[in-house]
Amino acid sequence: MQFDPNITPEEAMRRDEAQNLTSQERYTICQGCERNFMGACRECGCIVSLKVLWKSQACPIGKWGPSSS
Ligand code: SF4
Repeated sequence: MQFDPNITPEEAMRRDEAQNLTSQERYTICQGCERNFMGACRECGCIVSLKVLWKSQACPIGKWGPSSS
């Protein structure tokens, strides 16, 4: 898994405080994302179905942040 160097963990966490999305909600966002190509994120190269399950992960373009739940 790769991490976006342009977003700090603090920024991703700040964004997520307003959202605190579940993995299913994250996945729904990824499914509708223009950067999703056949299940892989074109921004970070991750398989999104796995990435959304990893609580500390964040969308590299700020659509969702790390989960605290
Ligand atoms: S992680 Fe972000 S950029 Fe990548 S597919 Fe999901 S919503 Fe899109």
